[in-house]
Amino acid sequence: MEKALFSKRITCLDCKGGHIAKKQRNKRIYICGRNHNYKTCRRNKVFQDYLIELLSMRYNDIVSPEDLSSKVEYIEANEEKIVIYVIDNGKPIISMNDFAQF
Ligand SMILES: [Zn+2]
Repeated sequence: MEKALFSKRITCLDCKGGHIAKKQRNKRIYICGRNHNYKTCRRNKVFQDYLIELLSMRYNDIVSPEDLSSKVEYIEANEEKIVIYVIDNGKPIISMNDFAQF
């Protein structure tokens, strides 16, 4: 099982609550904590592998997932959109269905 690399750094874009780390078929995922605990929000699932993929497009000289995750200040996410704020003050990394910024 992949270690949870983004715990406490993912916020739900819908409810502004924190995402929690879970696993799904041996994949590390993060879902909205309010969905998990109360079902008062959407699941807003994020795959850790996809976050690593997005980060490796920006930091293409870094290979290790741990080192890539260390570039992240925090992340906002829901089903439609992921925004990764990075620690080096670069523009955020954005992934949407019809738009991406790496
Ligand atoms: Zn939520």
